[in-house]
Amino acid sequence: MRQVQNFIDGQFTGSASGRRFDKISPVDGTTIASVSEAGAAEVDAAVQAARAALHGDWGNLTTDQRADLLHGVANEITRRFDDFVAAEMADTGQPHHVMTHAFIPRGAANFKVFADVVKNVATESFVMPTPDGAGAVNYAIRRPKGVVAVISPWNAPFLLMTWKVGPALACGNTVVVKPSEETPLTTALLGEVMNAVGVPKGVFNVIHGFGPGSAGELLTRHKGVNAITFTGETGTGTAIMKAAAEGIRDVSFELGGKNAGIVFADADFDKAVDGIFRSAFLNTGQVCLGTERVYVERPLFERFVAALKARVEGVSFGRPETKGTDYGPLISAEHRKKVLSYYRKAVEEGATVVTGGGTPEVAAELAGGHWVQPTIWTGLPESAAVIREEIFGPCCHIAPFDTEAEVVTLANATDYGLSTTIWTTNLARAHRLSAAIEVGIVWVNSWFLRDLRTAFGGSKQSGIGREGGVHSLEFYTETANVCIKL
Ligand code: NAD
Repeated sequence: MRQVQNFIDGQFTGSASGRRFDKISPVDGTTIASVSEAGAAEVDAAVQAARAALHGDWGNLTTDQRADLLHGVANEITRRFDDFVAAEMADTGQPHHVMTHAFIPRGAANFKVFADVVKNVATESFVMPTPDGAGAVNYAIRRPKGVVAVISPWNAPFLLMTWKVGPALACGNTVVVKPSEETPLTTALLGEVMNAVGVPKGVFNVIHGFGPGSAGELLTRHKGVNAITFTGETGTGTAIMKAAAEGIRDVSFELGGKNAGIVFADADFDKAVDGIFRSAFLNTGQVCLGTERVYVERPLFERFVAALKARVEGVSFGRPETKGTDYGPLISAEHRKKVLSYYRKAVEEGATVVTGGGTPEVAAELAGGHWVQPTIWTGLPESAAVIREEIFGPCCHIAPFDTEAEVVTLANATDYGLSTTIWTTNLARAHRLSAAIEVGIVWVNSWFLRDLRTAFGGSKQSGIGREGGVHSLEFYTETANVCIKL
């Protein structure tokens, strides 16, 4: 069994308390790793190491040198691609092709893209008149914020963690990362990569553990942390924001969603079915950008429901490394319990179960895994819990609509505002809806198509701030204006 340790000041270390927790395989319920749980001593050591590194070799690098080092990190991840794929598969149980096409390459790209952004983005400059006629010139400089706490979730662990570590380091900060307790493996591997390419010790630190009363809370409450970037549930964001209020620390939050998918009768039917299938069921529905509310224009409704049902019933359950597997388990027994409770609630609230709704038959060797059936419902009122609350499982409710105005109202009737996917061939309508739906990310005739230079984030209770491209620089640096009287 693997032993996973904290990574502090360039060294893998256990915990003074000796506390450990098990990492359970989502696929079959076996214990695959024993993880050191960081306590106050390790969190403090990690933050101190990160603070010291700000002013050492790391702080003395030029932007170009730092960017070169981060390209080296990306190249080393690519060289150890198979190790990262295996680790992420073991942690999440998700299929091989999801790792090789999206989760691991995007993790490597996060280091290259932000290294290049930092090198190529100009700061502002204003020349101003003064009463004596000589004038003054203003220009902006960007300084790193300092020690950044990175708190990340389990659903796309490597991609989401590097999405924050990449820009934070590119801007010259140092980081202390607290990965999800469910997915410790790839973050630990990244420590090995940092050492291999010569990133100075203390620049990248990892502490393992849980949220409340454990490493997560200890980190967010630590006075040596200058800013907190967090991806996870909206409720956790609320707790972290309270911790960040002490010392007025800045936060960047990527939180939950209850995203609408909208299909108009003029859509390319096959592409729309495929797109909604992906947006609702990829990663077993454990994608913040996923679609749990689908609205289909009435003339297409019956046909669409039948076609999506056929797609869903064709998924192949299995071990992630087995060829042909395209559907994995949920992350944990606890999450499975939550998702199944919504499956029951949907029926209690009067849903028609189009497909799924329970647990699947799986091979005996997978019986200990966290499997649930992909599920489609129809027939619920908009007030139903499964339409209002984020489930974060492989399920969606499909409802018909009649007019564009009606579907905009339906899509916006939520406390969340992360993303939407719209399927139409009417260009003017696509533009109108994109402006009218209150979300941070709109996809038209696509979903999860990401240019890392673009703004990413949620409105309403789906987040605070935007990351991606230059937007990341806004959070990971302090802008200072220099005014020089001529
Ligand atoms: P979570 O909020 O339970 O946990 C996320 C991280 O926060 C974990 O590392 C956890 O240990 C830590 N944590 C929990 N309580 C804490 C506390 N009080 N103080 C400090 N740290 C704490 O989320 P999850 O279940 O891991 O992930 C699923 C959620 O993440 C969903 O709501 C999903 O929508 C959201 N998500 C959002 C985005 C986005 O970009 N908006 C992306 C992925 C996931």
